[in-house]
Amino acid sequence: MINFVGAGPGAVDLITVRGKQLLEQADIIIYAGSLVNPGLLGYAKEGCEIHNSASMTLEQVIEVMKAGESDGRAVVRLHTGDPSIYGAIREQIDMLEELNIQYKVCPGVSSFCGAAAALGAEYTLPGVSQSVILTRMEGRTPVPPKEEISLMAAHQATMVIFLSSGMLEQLSERLIEGGYTKDTKAAIVYKATWDDEKVVRTTVGNLAQAARENNISKTALITVGEFLGDKYERSLLYDPGFTHEFRQASK
Ligand code: SAH
Repeated sequence: MINFVGAGPGAVDLITVRGKQLLEQADIIIYAGSLVNPGLLGYAKEGCEIHNSASMTLEQVIEVMKAGESDGRAVVRLHTGDPSIYGAIREQIDMLEELNIQYKVCPGVSSFCGAAAALGAEYTLPGVSQSVILTRMEGRTPVPPKEEISLMAAHQATMVIFLSSGMLEQLSERLIEGGYTKDTKAAIVYKATWDDEKVVRTTVGNLAQAARENNISKTALITVGEFLGDKYERSLLYDPGFTHEFRQASK
């Protein structure tokens, strides 16, 4: 059995209880060294074999899994945040299926949740936006043309942009092309939940400069939208005048 485990956004106590138990029981851990906090390896038992996948190919990762499985050892594949977001788990799963090796996925706290916590923000404010778009700029990995940033920006929903902090000039241009004004609120959250976390509140037009001023060029999320502003409507759920399944209106 191979367990894919979400490591959480950074802080070692933001892994799930289940994820921590799987790490404690693992005989082999393959972790994504570019982003996973190495402090999490402190949960591993003595003698656990540890591989950093940053310098490995997919085939090499699968080889380690296959060897572990045939020796009956417990293998954990540790991915940053939640494995379902830019985690490249599907290709591993498909290869494991071909090899008839069983797997399970243990979810994790994604960095976009860590970023909201760092901002003390709610992404889905009534009267502002009820949707969150998780996306990225095209890098070496192509993005389908229908998902181009300017087309996404046209929705004026809350946006959280991954993997793009090295191309903020272009990101600003595309957001503006899509309909955001250059004064629309934006925030850069660097290493959310890590000890050296930084939160930079800025505007769509000023993203690149704000990142430069704060020496941020990687491991950051860009959040965009009026959820960062002051205006919103109160929720109906907690409105004294609103009756629902669990509560009678008080007037
Ligand atoms: N599966 C991960 C995302 C992996 S893609 C998740 O659920 O969070 C890697 C990108 O995620 C980085 O380029 C950066 O944009 C973002 N990221 C990961 N950890 C982060 C953190 N602690 N703070 C800010 N951004 C982070």
